[in-house]
Amino acid sequence: MDFEKFLELMSEGGFFYPSFEIYRGKAEVGGFYDYGPLGVELKRNIIEKWRRVFIYPYQDFIVEVETPIIMPKIVFEASGHLEHFTDAIVECTKCGRKFRADHLIEEELGKRGISIKTEGLSLEELDGLIRKYGIKCPVCGGELGNVKPFNLLFQTTIGPYSDNIGYLRPETAQGMFVSFPRVFNLMGRKLPLGIAQIGKVGRNEISPRQGLIRLREFTQMEIEFFFDPENAKCPYLDELDVKLRIIPERDVAAGVKEPREFRPKEAVENGVVPNEWMAFFMGLATIYMNELGVPLDHQYFLAKLPEERAHYSAASFDQMVYSERFGWVEVSGHAYRTDYDLSRHAKYSGYDLTVERRLATPKEVIEARVYPNPQRIREVFGNEMAKVMQAIGRADPRWLASELASRGKAVIEGYTITSDMVFIKEERRKVHIERFIPHDVEPSFGVDRIVYVTLEHAYTEVNGKPLLRLPPDIAPIKAVVLPIIKKQEYVSIGKRIFKELSLAGIRAVYDDDGTIGSRYAKYDSIGVPFAITIDDKTPADNTVTIRDRDTKAQVRVNISEVIRIINDAVLRRLSITEIAKSMGLQLIVRE
Ligand code: AMP
Repeated sequence: MDFEKFLELMSEGGFFYPSFEIYRGKAEVGGFYDYGPLGVELKRNIIEKWRRVFIYPYQDFIVEVETPIIMPKIVFEASGHLEHFTDAIVECTKCGRKFRADHLIEEELGKRGISIKTEGLSLEELDGLIRKYGIKCPVCGGELGNVKPFNLLFQTTIGPYSDNIGYLRPETAQGMFVSFPRVFNLMGRKLPLGIAQIGKVGRNEISPRQGLIRLREFTQMEIEFFFDPENAKCPYLDELDVKLRIIPERDVAAGVKEPREFRPKEAVENGVVPNEWMAFFMGLATIYMNELGVPLDHQYFLAKLPEERAHYSAASFDQMVYSERFGWVEVSGHAYRTDYDLSRHAKYSGYDLTVERRLATPKEVIEARVYPNPQRIREVFGNEMAKVMQAIGRADPRWLASELASRGKAVIEGYTITSDMVFIKEERRKVHIERFIPHDVEPSFGVDRIVYVTLEHAYTEVNGKPLLRLPPDIAPIKAVVLPIIKKQEYVSIGKRIFKELSLAGIRAVYDDDGTIGSRYAKYDSIGVPFAITIDDKTPADNTVTIRDRDTKAQVRVNISEVIRIINDAVLRRLSITEIAKSMGLQLIVRE
């Protein structure tokens, strides 16, 4: 692939290009990209396709929300991001330049032919590698300082008070955890429940240099999928006609580089994937990327070892997709976040985030009950007796028992309670309901990386000319209307067809400028799947040809059928050849 030519098409065609171009040289702001007119449409279609794969078929229990991108500090204290969301940074003691330590080590050793994996290494281990191999500043050759943690959260202040600190969310996920009780109520207090969100996130990456692959501001599509860990069956697993290609945790640990194939259910039965819902989303992710044009042998799931996983995760898989330019790229992360996030938010907010589980057979439980001694309480607290009795009633009996046993007293809502004021008894009771914090699996997609790999996979050259074979449902522009020559009669019919397409909600362009061959080539290069050509037959019999971008085959149809055919082809992902076959039409191959 001619990467220069590809990148030129991306920027000149209006897909994507670096932001703040006019300030180049005056502001050092890598990691930000604009989408142009075609890029916006493509990204929108990729997002809508995700909804069609992950949400709409399961809309009775997966719903979408939108929550703020700026959140108060306490949210990220609870989530653990303030403490853990860091990369290792190292500074040159001579020129002051800063580098992401793990990337620097891999790059510098790579130049010496040494391949090393740094993911999951501690700061000390990274430091050790720098010293062992005598790695110096790649810019000025200066000595490197100690490796330190660098928090990736973008900080801001909320309102006019400088102590009211907020952060730009580094993942959409926290919005779903924080609003879980409300959405759970809205959806009828039932599990499983998926809460999806699509939106911008910010990560203050240390030195992003890989275009759309590593950005400081990007779009995520995530589902937080809440389920009862004691009832984690996924009824849709057998319906999935897909094999998962996985390098399981034990293979990763043993250095195996080849993925193995599993049916989703098999992956769970073999202990490779920890639960059925996770395997289900990994199956959907495979289908999704495949329908975007990524063949199955260009994708696999890589298990993360415990030391490589995020702080909230009990099991993680990265969905890796092959890029000719960047090698294997992670396009989605699948994490089993257990009850970690909801438990933390319950602790930090004081809000009860448990849900009920109805037991099939009642369970006998031993419960501690507190019986206050009114006489003694009145002697000590006088007419505050009623308030003290209520406060004792609100306290957790086990906590009270342990406080009295260890300290001889317990302070409840400001009242000091001693052993002579209460009698604590353990009682057996049958319960039909128990409370628990739901578990969560999270499929998390980075839209911009997906846009990039989709474009790269679609790109090819035929006789030196670019051709973008985007699937019709993803292509930014579905149809181009082309009078074969710029003749008034053809022009007015063309403009009428263009208007009808526009009114029908089909993204289209009209073009009568230049030779027909150069126009075909131009629209092939930006991925327009169908070209509608007005030629000498059109005024006579009201027919046009529809040309297929990939096969160049054409069919001649009545103008009144154009919209239905284009809609059909786009929605059902059919080529003109397939449409012609289903309509019994003759194919014309001219080019
Ligand atoms: P993570 O929470 O790190 O697993 O990220 C979830 C997904 O977001 C990844 O699979 C990527 O597709 C995407 N992603 C993460 N970091 C970046 C970045 N700096 N730029 C673009 N996409 C990213």
